[in-house]
Amino acid sequence: MRLDQITLENFRNYAAQQVTFHPTCNVICGENAQGKTNLLEAMVCLSTGKSHRTRADRELIRFDQEGLRLEAAIHSRNRDFVSHIDIGFGKKKKITVNQVPVKAASGLSSVLNTVFFCPEDLQLIKEGAAARRRFIDSSLCQLRPRYAAALSEYQRLHEHKTRILRDCADRPDLIATLPDFNLRMAETGAVLIHYRARFVKMLSIFAAAAHSECSGGREQLAIQYKTVKTVIDPFGDQKLLVIQLLEHQREHHYAEVSSRQCLSGPHKDDIEVLLDGLSARSYASQGQTRTAALALKLAAREIHREITGEYPILLLDDVLSELDTRRQEYVLNRIGSGQVFITCCEEDRLHSLLKGNVYRVKNGIVTQQ
Ligand code: ATP
Ligand code: MG
Repeated sequence: MRLDQITLENFRNYAAQQVTFHPTCNVICGENAQGKTNLLEAMVCLSTGKSHRTRADRELIRFDQEGLRLEAAIHSRNRDFVSHIDIGFGKKKKITVNQVPVKAASGLSSVLNTVFFCPEDLQLIKEGAAARRRFIDSSLCQLRPRYAAALSEYQRLHEHKTRILRDCADRPDLIATLPDFNLRMAETGAVLIHYRARFVKMLSIFAAAAHSECSGGREQLAIQYKTVKTVIDPFGDQKLLVIQLLEHQREHHYAEVSSRQCLSGPHKDDIEVLLDGLSARSYASQGQTRTAALALKLAAREIHREITGEYPILLLDDVLSELDTRRQEYVLNRIGSGQVFITCCEEDRLHSLLKGNVYRVKNGIVTQQ
């Protein structure tokens, strides 16, 4: 899949701008606050219908303007598409693909997918489990509709059970409803574990390859899936998973009632990232952290290609700083197939760029070098 051209009208600090891109590598340079991230944000909008930075669409409209318009010329599934987004104050958002109105997320993502990487993604390595679960959930939801359905059902059950645990001190009769919730959470939980185990296995293989290449073979990355303790084999039969989840719930019944919290289930799952056998969360340097986080994103992109046959476009916001020359050269030249967009502040890093286009952004105006 390829983004051939983008047009921005009154989007963030862009008044009217059209840019044509290279099919492989596109480097976007500029000083701080010139519009580099805004350009990548427009690409995210054109693949999901919304921004990754804000929920408020009106923030995307250029100051003092009435509305914005984005257009993308895309090549995917061996065909050409043109997608449009129109957002105006107080008007309903309009999204079309080849002039046919579509639903935001599903319509746009059927022609353009993005994997976005920015400095905040270092949380994937350094922060608590929630960031890693979000990464796995959002990757899997894009690829597996059955997973997306099970996840939303599980989240609904989890919220409901949490309310029961909170209220049951005042209303002891509610405790009688718990076994029913426990069974349904174990059944949907088993579906989540089934998919996550397989996803993490693929992630581990692809991320290890990317990390090893990026670090010049110096470091070995491994990823382990951590789920509910009583689950002996997450690849096992789903009926067995249900039994093992129920067993864990039974062991934690009193603790759940006394703490009024839902303590048992795959909503606490995590992945452990290891570098040369050591926990990356505790021991990785800044450069290693960045490389490992990037390796996870590159692996998600490979898995997407394995399953759908096409690479999503890769958006790398500000990743070159903190990487040494060898790792920068890898990012610029050896990410391999698929289309890549890289923003950076310093042009002197680009002497090693072999193939692709370089653009300069200044105050919302893009020029090709
Ligand atoms: P950095 O190198 O610091 O990350 P950047 O080039 O990525 O900089 P952007 O995040 O793209 O910078 O933002 C560029 C400018 O866009 C900011 O100065 C911001 O004030 C401006 N901006 C954001 N939203 C709007 C808007 N709705 N209308 C006009 N300008 C906006
Ligand atoms: Mg930026």
